[in-house]
This record gives sequence, structure tokens and C-alpha cells, in this order.
Amino acid sequence: MATIVTELDSLQLVTVSQPLDTKRVGRPSTVVRPSQRHIAVAVYPDTDAIAIGVVALGGEVLREFRFDVESAPTAVHTVNTLQALLRGLELSDGGTVLGIGIGVPGLVDARDGVVRVAPHLDWHDEPLVDMVATATGLPTWAANDATCAVVAEGRFGQGVDEDNLVYLNGGAGGIGGGAIVGGQLLSGVNGYSGELGHMLVNSDGVHCHCGAVGCLETEVNRHDLLRVVGLADAEAGLLEQRLRDTYGTDPAVTAAVDRQLDFLGVGLRNIVNIFNPGTIVLGGFLAAVRNVTQERLQETVERSALAGPSSEVRIVSSSLDDNVLIGAGELVFRTILRDPASVSTSVSSAGSESDSEARRVAAS
Ligand SMILES: [Zn+2]
Repeated sequence: MATIVTELDSLQLVTVSQPLDTKRVGRPSTVVRPSQRHIAVAVYPDTDAIAIGVVALGGEVLREFRFDVESAPTAVHTVNTLQALLRGLELSDGGTVLGIGIGVPGLVDARDGVVRVAPHLDWHDEPLVDMVATATGLPTWAANDATCAVVAEGRFGQGVDEDNLVYLNGGAGGIGGGAIVGGQLLSGVNGYSGELGHMLVNSDGVHCHCGAVGCLETEVNRHDLLRVVGLADAEAGLLEQRLRDTYGTDPAVTAAVDRQLDFLGVGLRNIVNIFNPGTIVLGGFLAAVRNVTQERLQETVERSALAGPSSEVRIVSSSLDDNVLIGAGELVFRTILRDPASVSTSVSSAGSESDSEARRVAAS
């Protein structure tokens, strides 16, 4: 451990100092803080905006930029937006971008960084990691957005110290998921695992864009909740407030919320029985609808899941606003944490398109 800290310190990735409190018995522990000199740039293209964050080691989003779009951005639009931002990005003295991490609302092939399909962006077989690495000259990683989010929740959010964690996010485009099992991020053969939004919860349900019927994301969806409270679009916080204000008094709202929580409960029952998680974190509109009446969801899961795995599961709402950006940043930093020496070349060469190391391409 001390060796790793020394390496990180020598690379100026952390600052090391002595504690101020010297009255405690025993040898005082060294204080290690993440440096803000070397950062990751995180990118999250979604249907309504391209979000780009400057993320420090330790999960702090130092700056965030949001580029609203009228229609879903193309991969080329996303790369050009990132490139333009990097040109104008002013970092503190000696600051360096270590790499680019991208959260994609779709299937990202972990072997070659190609986005096989992002249905709501209408992306098909986009070689995104290669495109970004070539355009920026920086090492680049990409993963599914909910995969990024579960990484962030596990390191900095509701899943800290939790070795068995499942994250479910409800967004405008549907429901995404990710899982950490036995302390390891669940990836699958291609990196496609965690498509929990497409588990069957209603055999008599409506058709899903994936080709199946009655998927979790068709039965539990943001659009129906917005419609019942008369909103065209809204952040999760406003949606939750409107649902809270009318749940129990407006029969249509009450029925819609109860129906969605019951189908979400079916989904969570499957998750509990399959993964035996210690914690399930809900984000986006799923957190909003859960917060309207937490007891109903909890009772559904306790009543329907097997007694063993449901006895200790904790169902909570996400507390990280930017978990996709934070997790995308982690795609970059985890390389450093695994092997600090590997980054020295990147630090010295980042920004140089001619250097082969800076053009290294990896996917996660
Ligand atoms: Zn589906």
C-alpha cells in the first residue's frame, strides 16, 4: 500500500501530508488526498444532451458542461463536441488530461470499444473508442452508462463497502442496470451483461423495442408517470414532487404509481433471487417513484422474493447526481490504481497525437 501511495505521489496523482491531530495514541496515519492536477474527461451522450465532466481521482466532478441537443446526437457530433471542448479547456497549472471515459446508453463491446447498438441514439456499430482516441490522441475507454453508474455507486455512493451491489437506472430512454458480484464488476463475454431493463415482468405486457413483450422498461416507464401528472418533461426531482403531491388523492396518479411499483417489485424480486445482493440502488425516475411510497416496493419484494436472499437486502435511492460521469471517469482512473507506473507514459505524452501510447485504445 505504501509503495502504491509513493508511486501515486511521485506521479502527482495524490498529495501526501501528515495529520494535524498529533494527540492520538500511536503513530499518526499519513493523509492521502487525490490531486486535481491530473484529471479524466468523462462524456455522456444521451437523447437530450451531451454531458461532459472534468473528473478528479476520488470521484469529484470539478466542472460539468451540458450541451443540449434538439435530436439525439450522432457519434460524430459527440466526438466533435468533445474535441471542441478539449481545445478550450483550461486546466490548472501543470494539469493534464489522463484519458477519456465514455458512458453510452447502449451495448458497448468490451473487446473493441464499438457501440453495437444504442437504440435511443440510433447508433449501430459505431467504433466510438477508436474515433475518440484518434480525434483526441488520448487513451479512451467506454462502457454502458449504467455500468459506469454502478462503478460510481460502488466506490463513492450507496454501495461503498458493498461487494454485492445492483444498480438500476430509470431514464428517458428506458431502464439500464449494472451489477457488482463478489466485489467484481459483472461484464459477461462481450461486456453486455446487466440489461436488466429487458427482463420479463409481464407476459401480457406491451411490445418492447428489443423485440420482446412485457420487459421491465415497457411496464415501468417515465413517460406514463409524466403524463399522469400533466408534465411534458421534467427532472426526477420535479416528477417526484408532483407524484408526492397527488398520490393518494388523485386516483389516476395513485393507480399509475402503484402499478409501476408493483412491476418494479417483480423486477426486484428476480434481481434479489438471482444475485442475492446486499444493496439495490435505484436512480433516475425509479428513485422518484420509489420515494413516493417506499413501503409498497419494500413489501412487494419481501412478500414475493425468496425469504433467504430478501432477508438482508437494502433497497435505496441513489445519492450521486452525476454517477454516470463519475463512473466514466473511473474507467480512466482504475488503470492507474491497478498499475500506477503505467500512467507515467500517458502523463508525459497525453495530447500528442503522434505518440503511440497516447493513442492506445481500450474498452471496458
Ligand atoms: Zn425489451
